[in-house]
Amino acid sequence: MAKSIVYFASARAKFFDYDYGFLGKFEEILNRVNLKNYVAKGDYVPIKMHLGSQGAYRVVRPAFIRKLVDSLKNAGGDPFVTDTVRIPGLEYLRVASANGINELSTGAPVIMADGVFGSDSVMMPSGPILGEIGIASAIHDAPAMIVLSHCKGHIASGYGGAVKNLGMGGIAFKDRNGVHQRGRMHFLQNAELNWTSEKCSHCLQCVGACPHESISFDQDDKLVIDQQKCARCGRCARVCTEGALVLPLNIELFQKVLAEAAATVLNTFNKGKVLYINFVTEVQPECDCMPMADAPLIPDIGVLVSDDIVAIEKATLDLINQAQVIRDSKAGEKELTSAEHLFLKIHGKDPYLQVRAMADFGLGSEDYEIVEVLCKPKADGSTAPRSFGH
Ligand code: SF4
Ligand code: SF4
Repeated sequence: MAKSIVYFASARAKFFDYDYGFLGKFEEILNRVNLKNYVAKGDYVPIKMHLGSQGAYRVVRPAFIRKLVDSLKNAGGDPFVTDTVRIPGLEYLRVASANGINELSTGAPVIMADGVFGSDSVMMPSGPILGEIGIASAIHDAPAMIVLSHCKGHIASGYGGAVKNLGMGGIAFKDRNGVHQRGRMHFLQNAELNWTSEKCSHCLQCVGACPHESISFDQDDKLVIDQQKCARCGRCARVCTEGALVLPLNIELFQKVLAEAAATVLNTFNKGKVLYINFVTEVQPECDCMPMADAPLIPDIGVLVSDDIVAIEKATLDLINQAQVIRDSKAGEKELTSAEHLFLKIHGKDPYLQVRAMADFGLGSEDYEIVEVLCKPKADGSTAPRSFGH
């Protein structure tokens, strides 16, 4: 079987020339994949991405989103930038704007795919773990989609890339009955948050990390969770370094459920109508939903583009693992061996599990071929740089 093609452009710029720079090479990849293969004239096309958090600013830069939006428009599509509600919808849009992502910068509307209340969802049959799951309606109803991912580590799944962007981010915050759809994936097997007072140092990290102000301490210093407000995201337990607040999580099952949910989202599209773009830049240890961003673990690598989610995720993880770690980073603090992926070393979770689970669903191939794009040819077809190298 033929290998899956993964286009790649390095973040390095060899010459003082736009066409040899990162943005120019990204533009050239968009030309080569021919977006008309994915979008038809007049199609509303979601660009599914993570818009960051207050404090987590290492998102895909607006200049690249703008380039993508312009290319999609040239192909006849009508794109919009989107994610689902994680923090209250309007607040999330304001955070996105503060991170530089708005209609003025990107050239496309920025909307919540599951509505500002997070309940615009369509229930779809899923797999053995979830049974069914609510897909954000603006994604469910779309004829084509671009999955634009900022690749980084993740405290719960080891790695957050395209699978995570789809499997968690394509799912609605809740259904019309108020059941937290994404929350179901964090609280698998009827898991519950367990708090042990003896271990609690009252550092209040859990309170600060809760995006829905659901946690407080009562007069007796006992941790209280407002179940009406709690969105079941599990973030509070993940930031508790004392082991006082715990959410039991089967790591393997969690990665499988991510893949199952991602596969369910993809099943709402016709084959060949989804394109994946992975930015391997500012690769920090944690998800962009955290209340802060840490220093990058490795130098910027570049961008990968493919219509095979398994191939692009495998290639991304392989490239990350081949990079030199930055000494003054969370990776630099660890003793890394070549046998272990740096996300496994940092988070204790094998980042390839979710990729293999997607392959098991028959959604792609781990056998890939990198096609590196070195420059954007000039209008006359020449590739000579405009100025001297450095
Ligand atoms: S993060 Fe953990 S140790 Fe800190 S206040 Fe919350 S439960 Fe207690
Ligand atoms: S799981 Fe924890 S962090 Fe998430 S909403 Fe509930 S209390 Fe807040």
